[in-house]
Amino acid sequence: MLNLVLFGPPGAGKGTQSNLLIDKYNLVHLSTGDILRGEIAAGTALGLEAKTLMDKGDLVPDKIVIGMISSKLDNNPTANGFIFDGFPRTAAQATALDTLLSGKGTAISAMLSLKVEDAELIKRLLERGKESGRADDKNESIIANRINEYNNKTAPLKEFYAAQNKLSEIEGVGSITDIAQKLNTVIDSL
Ligand code: AMP
Repeated sequence: MLNLVLFGPPGAGKGTQSNLLIDKYNLVHLSTGDILRGEIAAGTALGLEAKTLMDKGDLVPDKIVIGMISSKLDNNPTANGFIFDGFPRTAAQATALDTLLSGKGTAISAMLSLKVEDAELIKRLLERGKESGRADDKNESIIANRINEYNNKTAPLKEFYAAQNKLSEIEGVGSITDIAQKLNTVIDSL
């Protein structure tokens, strides 16, 4: 199986690149942000709980997102592999993911980490907010909080995967196809 963690701060291009990778490598895309927004749209209790945190740019509790990923893995027993986009975001999530995958006889193949400067992230997110209507993309102080959450709780996970010799850092600025090409080169060398 090919199981990739597509990593990076909000606005790094994880969603865009995931969409290209799922087609090229026939993978299942698991974006916890998308799943949570689906729960909100469906008006579930889980969505309601998550919305308050997401609208502020705070992380949703580990237990919720780990449970979501666990059931998605169970629901896709014949997958060729998975792209984890926006997950894991904390040490507890990374450990839980390793445990879930090893219970299925598999593991993370690589973490592909997209590197983008803060000023560029803010510009991209504000631009996306105009079209997506996402509350967390529209306001600069919420965006700052999301970047802060990333730096404090999520960025340290690079060390977690580096310790397993699975980290590749890729420059996330340039054309979408150039970045995709760089990701493909890393994946093809696995
Ligand atoms: P994203 O679409 O990945 O930018 O996520 C949007 C928001 O959903 C985040 O700011 C968090 O509030 C929440 N979220 C998404 N994935 C996770 C996760 N793995 N852990 C905690 N919160 C998450």
